[in-house]
Amino acid sequence: MIIGLTGGIGSGKSTVARAFETLGAAWIDADDVAREVVATGEPALLAIKNRFGNQIVCQDGTLNRAALRDIVFKDPEQRQWLESVTHPKIRERILEHLKRLKLQGAPYVLLVSPLLFESGQSELVSRCIVVDVSQALQLSRTLMRDGVSESQVRAILAAQLTRDQRLAKADDVIDNSGDHASMTKQVARLDTSYRQLLNC
Ligand code: ADP
Repeated sequence: MIIGLTGGIGSGKSTVARAFETLGAAWIDADDVAREVVATGEPALLAIKNRFGNQIVCQDGTLNRAALRDIVFKDPEQRQWLESVTHPKIRERILEHLKRLKLQGAPYVLLVSPLLFESGQSELVSRCIVVDVSQALQLSRTLMRDGVSESQVRAILAAQLTRDQRLAKADDVIDNSGDHASMTKQVARLDTSYRQLLNC
C-alpha cells in the first residue's frame, strides 16, 4: 500500500513521516526526488542548460536553483516547459523508489509530497493523509526552521492549495497544531488502522 502524505510548507510532513518510520513504515520525499532528477549528469539538467544557457549552472556544474526559480516564478511558459521536462522523470524515479522499498519489506510506504495533489502524484497512491495546521502556525514554524523572510514564505503559501482545498481531498487528517505527543498518538492510530487494512 502506498500512502500519500501532504500538507503545506511547515505543516510538519517530515516530522510526521519520521514518526511513521519509528513504527516500521518506509517513506520517500518527492522533493528529494525532484532534486535527484536535476543532479549533475542527469538528462534533465542538460535540457535545462540547453534552454537557459550556462548562467543556469554554478561554477561546479550543479544547477543554480535560485536562478532557475527566478526565471520560472516570473514566466509561466518557462515554468510549464520545466515541468514538462522534470515531472515525467520525477514520476518515473518515484515509482522506482517505491518498488525498491516494497521489495525491502516495508508494510506500507509513504510518499511525502508538498504538491501531492497539485502535481498529480496523488494518482500513484491508494490513500492520502493531510497534515493540517493553521496558516499562522505554518508561517511561524517555517520562519523558525528556515532562515527565510515572511514574504518568501507567503509566496510559497500562495502557490500551494489552500487549507480547505487540501482537507477536502484527504482520506485521513493529522491535526499537528498540538505538541509532538499529540501528533505521535494520531500517527500510532493510523498505523494500526493501515496494518488492519493490510492484515499485518
Ligand atoms: P514540513 O516538512 O511540512 O515542511 P517539518 O516537519 O519540517 O514541516 O516541520 C516544520 C517545523 O515545525 C520543524 O522545525 C519541526 O520541528 C516543527 N514541528 C513539527 N511538528 C511540530 C509539533 N507538533 N510541535 C512543535 N513543532 C513542530
